[in-house]
Amino acid sequence: MQIDKFKKIVIKIGSSNLMNEKGKPKIIWLDEFAKSIKKLLIKKKQIVIVSSGAIAMGCKFLGIKKKGMKVDKSQAVASIGQIELMNFYKKIFDNSKIKISQILLTLDDTEQRRRSINARRTIDNLLAMGIVPIVNENDTTATTEIKYGDNDRLAARVAQIISADCLVLLSDVDGLYTDNPKKNKKTKLVKSVKEIDENIKSYATKTENLYGSGGMITKIEAAKICQLSGCYMVIANGNYKNPLKEINHSKKCTWFLPRISKLDARKQWIIGSVSPKGEVIIDQGAVKAINNGKSLLPAGVKKINGKFEKGDHILVKDQNNIECARGLTSFSSIEIEKIKGSHSSEIKNILGYSSREEIIHKDDLVRV
Ligand code: GLU
Repeated sequence: MQIDKFKKIVIKIGSSNLMNEKGKPKIIWLDEFAKSIKKLLIKKKQIVIVSSGAIAMGCKFLGIKKKGMKVDKSQAVASIGQIELMNFYKKIFDNSKIKISQILLTLDDTEQRRRSINARRTIDNLLAMGIVPIVNENDTTATTEIKYGDNDRLAARVAQIISADCLVLLSDVDGLYTDNPKKNKKTKLVKSVKEIDENIKSYATKTENLYGSGGMITKIEAAKICQLSGCYMVIANGNYKNPLKEINHSKKCTWFLPRISKLDARKQWIIGSVSPKGEVIIDQGAVKAINNGKSLLPAGVKKINGKFEKGDHILVKDQNNIECARGLTSFSSIEIEKIKGSHSSEIKNILGYSSREEIIHKDDLVRV
């Protein structure tokens, strides 16, 4: 697969691609990378970069180590490092005459529909001006519970929100291996993945701690968001001198292919949620109804996990704890606790006020 075939491309760069083991910025690497981006821009491609490195650059600037650092301190360090990071990009990208902008996103910016639409508009405006936006998580204000924490899923969510055609995840791994090559000589690099089944998930678990940065599980989660958004994704080793060229030529990477049927933008956004607030467990009849495109009614709900409000993202699971859908709930968890198992016509009597009949309306529900 060639990257050139795509129009709107998101590229995620990890800290280890930008900096060496001593924490020094890799100037030659970024310079080469900028040149390959320039070539894509000349071909009228639209490029968004999601870059890690704020904390690592902050540590370098202060001469301190990241290991063991508390969250509040790393947030302060990120606010210092983010300027260093952007200075680094600015200096090198200027050489290739590429104009850049900075976008810092919080989890809420992507998980709240209105804010995500706004982020899309901003990014689309920048792309129309020929700018390369450089995105990172707003580490300085995010707290542990409301944080991406990894730029793999953030990059996938950005790709989904802006309807990108391809997400390139650069890291220090060639791709997804079937097993840990250090332990198993027969391990293979998976070339392409159509469906993220239990096999694929088990490869990710087996190789999770293979490399310094690890994180194969978050990469698989990113792939899931992309597959359901109709976006191609590739995991590739960014440490080559020209990683984009390597993807095109050596094919030492793992491609994740999108699902054939592309969902509409709103449903893509629902399915791509990275912070569901809770879950409802439903009976077999309700699973069948959902599979036939119906809404989820209170009668089919057996159990609720978590606390959530009306309008929140929730997961829908069967009684074997297998996720079968996701959606936006029409009721809070407290309300569902009262109406679960009841017929829709009884809701008004139970709650004492009239409301919708469905726990999740079919327009707000997406099968997984
Ligand atoms: N946002 C973090 C930073 O810039 C990086 C998160 C990640 O490594 O994925 O340091």
